[in-house]
Amino acid sequence: MDFGWSKEQEALRQEVRTFIAENVTEEIVHEMGESTTSPTNPYPAQRGRGPKAKALFKKIDEKGWLGIAWPKEFGGAAKDRITQYLVEEEFTRVGISVGGGGSGAPAIMVAGTEEMKKFYIPKLIKGEISLAQGFTEPSGGADLASLQCRAVEDGDFFVINGQKIFTSGAHNSTHIYLMCRTDPDAPKHRGISILIFPMDTPGITVRPLWTIQNDPPAPPGTTYGQNRTNETFFEDVRVPKSSLLGEKNMGWYVGAMGLNLDRVGASRYLGSVRRDEDIVNWAKDNAFSDYDIKDNEAIREKVAELWTEAQVCRLMTLRSMSIVEHGGDFTYEGSAEKVWAPEHVVRSTEAIVQMMGPYAQLLSSSPNTVEGGLYAHNLLGAFQSGINHGSTQIMRDQGARRGLGMPRG
Ligand SMILES: Cc1cc2nc3c(=O)[nH]c(=O)nc-3n(C[C@H](O)[C@H](O)[C@H](O)COP(=O)(O)OP(=O)(O)OC[C@H]3O[C@@H](n4cnc5c(N)ncnc54)[C@H](O)[C@@H]3O)c2cc1C
Repeated sequence: MDFGWSKEQEALRQEVRTFIAENVTEEIVHEMGESTTSPTNPYPAQRGRGPKAKALFKKIDEKGWLGIAWPKEFGGAAKDRITQYLVEEEFTRVGISVGGGGSGAPAIMVAGTEEMKKFYIPKLIKGEISLAQGFTEPSGGADLASLQCRAVEDGDFFVINGQKIFTSGAHNSTHIYLMCRTDPDAPKHRGISILIFPMDTPGITVRPLWTIQNDPPAPPGTTYGQNRTNETFFEDVRVPKSSLLGEKNMGWYVGAMGLNLDRVGASRYLGSVRRDEDIVNWAKDNAFSDYDIKDNEAIREKVAELWTEAQVCRLMTLRSMSIVEHGGDFTYEGSAEKVWAPEHVVRSTEAIVQMMGPYAQLLSSSPNTVEGGLYAHNLLGAFQSGINHGSTQIMRDQGARRGLGMPRG
């Protein structure tokens, strides 16, 4: 068995690399970063993409590289997931997502009506629509099923009242993918539904929650460098019943499936191993030290250990993709990756900061920092990667139950 890439795959990778080198400028990457009203950020808050990013995505689309593994009828190129992986891997390295719009898109694909799929999927793939994820509430994200945000039926509408927290991107997304309670009397997992609707629906208020990356600001290229998430409030928000994704009161299962599928893929994997590539490149170039670290045995061993871990990460991703591609039973694998990858990124980011010496620990506000504080901010980001999108503790629990068949803790 040959685990390497075929000639065609390598040629495609090269083509994508050349395209990126010719078209992805630093200006575009900046524009695509957080667009917020933060005093430290020069880009004004807006919904959807800015003009430079729109032009870039048009070019990527012309190449046929958006939503590669999605069906043609929904705007994709109907290719295999490995091809998608290759293209995604290259774009993720420069901070650009060509995947297909987070956990909402796979959930719509599986549970949505034909009308919903035709409306949302092509627009999500092309980035004309973006979904904020409204799951977590102040009462606790780990115990998601205890959520209280209510949606009550009123004729042809649902009327929503409640609050969400950590709604990342709610300030610049066009739509929200909201988990809310539609039957308060049912057992907690069975009274939940998912609604998708525009963010400019009357009655929605979005308030910023600044993260540890905001002040001083994380430099562009920081892994998990988002400087803002949000609190989102719903006051008598009326949405048509056609906003319901899947069956009423079955939203728990639809949402969990979407989250699980979104945990697979090159972008999540690469987010976790980009720093290993940094370490190796840095060690090869001897970029930041006045002694030859290539000859330092402790560093060589550490780099090799981390690189091996990174390859485990990559193989776990490829395995998950293969299971999904072949219609296999995908249960605990996404959760297992969501434990391994964030814990690995903490280990590798800590190691790189140690190897580079004390200046690498300085944040962007310091005049003496290394690469604008990138490595220190990466370390801050690494810790939050074990919390967002499901904490490592909860992922371990899912692995134990779904993978090992252990009873609920
Ligand atoms: C930067 C960032 C962005 C985010 N973006 C979004 C978003 O866009 N949309 C969204 O809906 N949510 C988002 N989240 C929320 C995220 O999913 C939650 O923070 C996460 O699920 C944990 O919930 P919590 O913060 O309420 O912690 P809690 O639920 O209060 O848990 C606190 C700690 O206790 C542990 N714990 C809790 N219960 C158990 C248990 N039974 N067994 C073992 N350990 C347990 C948890 O693992 C965690 O470490 C984001 C979070 C962050 C930090």
